[in-house]
Amino acid sequence: MAVNAGSSSLKFQLLEMPNEKLITSGIVERIGMNKSIFMIKVDGEKNEETLDIPNHADAVNLLLNKLIEHNIIASFDEIAGVGHRVVHGGDQISESVVLDEEKIKYLDEIIDLAPLHLGPNLTGIKAFKKLLPNVKQVGVFDTAFHQTIAEESFLYAVPYEWYTKYKVRKYGFHGTSYKFITQRYAKMMGKDVKDVNIIVAHIGNGASLCAIKNGKSIDTSMGFTPLEGIPMGTRSGNIDPAVVEYMAKVKDKPVKEIMNILNKHSGYIGVSGVSSDSRDLVSAAAKGNHQAALAIEVQAKRIVDYIASYHNYIGGAEAIIFTAGIGENAKPTRANIGSRLATLGVEIDEERNDTRGVEQLISTDNSKIAVYVIPTNEEVMIARDTLSLL
Ligand code: ADP
Repeated sequence: MAVNAGSSSLKFQLLEMPNEKLITSGIVERIGMNKSIFMIKVDGEKNEETLDIPNHADAVNLLLNKLIEHNIIASFDEIAGVGHRVVHGGDQISESVVLDEEKIKYLDEIIDLAPLHLGPNLTGIKAFKKLLPNVKQVGVFDTAFHQTIAEESFLYAVPYEWYTKYKVRKYGFHGTSYKFITQRYAKMMGKDVKDVNIIVAHIGNGASLCAIKNGKSIDTSMGFTPLEGIPMGTRSGNIDPAVVEYMAKVKDKPVKEIMNILNKHSGYIGVSGVSSDSRDLVSAAAKGNHQAALAIEVQAKRIVDYIASYHNYIGGAEAIIFTAGIGENAKPTRANIGSRLATLGVEIDEERNDTRGVEQLISTDNSKIAVYVIPTNEEVMIARDTLSLL
């Protein structure tokens, strides 16, 4: 089972391994609020109920019992392992691990690095451990794939003690997605992972890029937190840090509130004033909304800045891969980014680019760098790593 526990939600997929067949999926929402929602797919149909689910342990209990009630499994013994998406592994965890007491203690210690996400992840892990004490729980970390990034790239040019004493450095996120794409691309090309030199653009509501050399992450755009990098649905991406103090002063608001605006009310929604969803921006822009069009261009410009820089840092990327909600689906966004990369010899093929959500080469045969769409699948990656640790 692949699990992604958030502060008030818990998403799950049950997969038959090693053939990676999806058996069922679902989500528990509004945990701890009244009228919680439990949804599970039974024979492909959504089965939804509204009831009160006070905490994560109750959510896990309900979920496990529903698997039996809907005849998806006959007993809990059929669940061989549970893989948890964990947002942060600090600087000690560079691969997926079995979550024994020592590892859980370590995660408890670094909770301040990602309090909004790591706390709920741990709550989910502890709930599963309690209810399935004999089943191995595995942690799959968003940061792990980026532990190969060299000091020159992960270090901020601030007092060195901020790093040694307070763990301030670039960690990077979306690592599970990047690992999946790297493996998938290697397989598609029939080559070894260590021969893969690519730039991956994971553009969803949360968005980042990754430079992959010899199959390893050598740089990524998100940083100490997911706020760094390119503008996203609601996050600003890079800004001059001096803006934070300045806006706190002119608005007479605490820094915390300014940070909340940078995380939740910036990016697409901040610039456009319309929506954080790319589909809404595209349709507003088509109707002549200047700010909506601008929000798209501001992001595209910055994505291209990263691609050009990563191409150089890798020493020549063989391919650029688009993935996640926008990368997989938004052809105008891909075409726009492609045309901004003409100087590097990138050429998008209009017909090949007319695609959504499937693996596809979208560049012309003349393009100096190949461009692909490859749908990501973090749950499959979680299940693979879990299986390999059982
Ligand atoms: P996250 O996992 O970070 O929440 P997703 O990867 O699901 O985000 O991506 C969500 C984004 O994908 C939204 O901005 C949504 O508009 C965009 N998206 C989904 N389908 C399409 C589509 N057909 N065209 C354009 N954008 C799309």
